[in-house]
Amino acid sequence: METPGSQSSLHRANLERVVRAVRLAGSLTQAEIARTTGLSAATVSNIVRELKEGGTVEVTPTSAGGRRARSVSLSGDAGIVIGVDFGHTHLRVAIGNLAHQVLAEESEPLDVDASSDQGFDRAERLVSRLIAATGVDRAKIAGVGLGVPGPIDVESGTLGSTAILPGWGGTRPAEELRGRLGVPVHVDNDANLGALGELVWGSGRGVRDLAYIKVASGVGAGLVINGKIYRGPGGTAGEIGHITLDEAGPVCRCGNRGCLETFAAARYVLPLLQPGHGPDLTMEGVVRLARDGDPGCRRVIADVGRHIGSGVANLCNLLNPSRVVLGGDLAEAGELVLGPIRESVGRYAIPSAARQLSVLPGALGGRAEVLGALALALSEMGDSTLLDGSATGALPAATPAFT
Ligand SMILES: [Zn+2]
Repeated sequence: METPGSQSSLHRANLERVVRAVRLAGSLTQAEIARTTGLSAATVSNIVRELKEGGTVEVTPTSAGGRRARSVSLSGDAGIVIGVDFGHTHLRVAIGNLAHQVLAEESEPLDVDASSDQGFDRAERLVSRLIAATGVDRAKIAGVGLGVPGPIDVESGTLGSTAILPGWGGTRPAEELRGRLGVPVHVDNDANLGALGELVWGSGRGVRDLAYIKVASGVGAGLVINGKIYRGPGGTAGEIGHITLDEAGPVCRCGNRGCLETFAAARYVLPLLQPGHGPDLTMEGVVRLARDGDPGCRRVIADVGRHIGSGVANLCNLLNPSRVVLGGDLAEAGELVLGPIRESVGRYAIPSAARQLSVLPGALGGRAEVLGALALALSEMGDSTLLDGSATGALPAATPAFT
């Protein structure tokens, strides 16, 4: 065990300060590192040598003010992190490095009735394929972030019952994947990871209090309170899909009546439009038709927005977030859905809470969850630039080679 304040913990703290300064700036000379961190030139020189030997940084000759200097930057293959996101109908994997660059990313359809075993086997194969495609060394995997569409019990890591992926309830997703990949795996539900992704690299940058609303097969929220994800002991915080809007409304999958979900989730909304638009209509299709001016689709999207707005108003009264970010397919509808959400918030939230709130579409689209999974893996490794709003210099790059 290491005692706080001991020589080795001080040394490690200094290492982290140097890595953090380099990560934030992209590259720095040793003199600049000394100025930024307040460490002596001799200490910086020793630490840089150690980091270079360990493969964490690269040192290249440069000139600063006409004098020869050495430029220090994070090594592209210092370590890699992996994000894995399971949704109702998809599996998405991203490979990133410690400098916050996405090296590869791919998504494939997932059969909702597949067993959890089949799902984790698929994830293992996709991870292996992407690692091979990027040519990085498997031994460099530092950690994995994993997203699942259901509540994770914080103590046991067990996935609560999920109607989104039937048959997965009671499994321990992090253990399953760790057993297959042999590296540490950190798990959270998809709405929390969406919130984390948007907070670090998307529409939530610079904000400390945020709700990420995900409307897909269900309706959920990821909550960020004072810069941290709020989960609750059973991992069920943010279940706004089950706020009661109408006691005489349709029966919800949770057993109650008239939950927000029964007015907003795809499985309840699509049947309203299918008589006129055919049985193959998807939420993506509804959004596209609405943007093209289809009156029925526009009406349905506006109604969905108003109902979500009622839920958001409740959330505002309880938590007073400064930003609400709308994720999922629905966000593509832009003002067609955001306008009605704001209208309901204005009508139902207390005015002081509503005044401080901005409602924005997600900036990361369907990538929010998998990028949040990368952020989870990075922050579990001690990357402290992520949650203080300073991870601005390195937006994850799209990966045209792997789409
Ligand atoms: Zn319900």
